[in-house]
Amino acid sequence: MSRIQLLSPRLANQIAAGEVVERPASVIKELLENSLDAGATRIDIDVEEGGVKLLRVRDNGRGIIESDLPLALSRHATSKIIDLDDLERVATLGFRGEALASVSSVSRLVLTSCAEGADQAWQVETEGRDMNPRVQPAAHPQGTTVEVRDLFFNTPARRKFLRTERTEFSHLEEVVKRLALSRFDVAFHLRHNGRSVLSLRPAHTEQEAQRRVASICGPAFIEQSVTIDQERGGLRLWGWVGLPTFSRSQADLQYFCVNGRMIRDKLVAHAVRQAYRDVLFNGRHPTFVLFLELDPAVVDVNVHPTKHEVRFRDGRMVHDFLFSTLYRALAEQRPDGQGPAAA
Ligand code: ADP
Ligand code: MG
Repeated sequence: MSRIQLLSPRLANQIAAGEVVERPASVIKELLENSLDAGATRIDIDVEEGGVKLLRVRDNGRGIIESDLPLALSRHATSKIIDLDDLERVATLGFRGEALASVSSVSRLVLTSCAEGADQAWQVETEGRDMNPRVQPAAHPQGTTVEVRDLFFNTPARRKFLRTERTEFSHLEEVVKRLALSRFDVAFHLRHNGRSVLSLRPAHTEQEAQRRVASICGPAFIEQSVTIDQERGGLRLWGWVGLPTFSRSQADLQYFCVNGRMIRDKLVAHAVRQAYRDVLFNGRHPTFVLFLELDPAVVDVNVHPTKHEVRFRDGRMVHDFLFSTLYRALAEQRPDGQGPAAA
């Protein structure tokens, strides 16, 4: 008998889930990204018991047509890219076609959707059917609801790593905040155990955007920050940087968005740190909400499954641009206008 066997689809998905589904917060990230990719303008998130018992994301996006519903739950099935060319300049947040397959393999997942222009909504469920979902009619306005119950109920090793309800929820809330900062035009409503935690209306004007930043980062951040908007050589950097007086003991108020995608990047972190080097005490961390816009063709987002990292084609140019823009903005705030002592 052959000793090499093909993994069952469920097991293959569970292994893939190991990469992207660490905790409720990672599920929320994937679901919210899908809603944004579907063009939603309003997203409602309901969470119970830190997300371990229930995560429900409801959007008013384009929805999924009936025949695509089972595919949405299959591995490597995506509507977002077709060929390598698309991958080279991907504009959507998702593209790997793995999230729903992974999440559904480690939870009880129900996907309900009514596609734009369809006269009927449909629903799929995967639990107990070993990744062979059955499609049934359902009631739902245009858009999609994904309900994820009992995360890791069938993978006890993973479940053991979950922390308290409070800790899991705070990770989850942070994910919602990051995405809400990346899309001012979308309304976000977050409820935990039936209580409203975050309620953000769409922000279209500068003032509304500022209000959203204040609700997420606190009013003190807005009061003690400098507004930035700088363009050079195809790069644009805008947003808010906290004054040195508004530094933190932890690097927990740092948001950096590249072409609509929140990232954590070493090169970016380094450029910012350099700009603040002479104005911050050791052990203090700068605060910022920044948006970098550049030609998508010169950024590679396919670096890591969670897509937290990116690679810039010309990292040096990006670094210099960030550093000089921030350095100058901070310098202008000094009474002598000289900025931090020359490096
Ligand atoms: P990816 O986002 O990488 O394509 P996913 O597993 O997250 O992979 O989703 C698979 C597919 O299901 C998506 O390509 C999309 O077509 C569809 N989909 C998932 N969530 C939604 C949603 N909220 N609204 C519309 N379509 C969705
Ligand atoms: Mg996705």
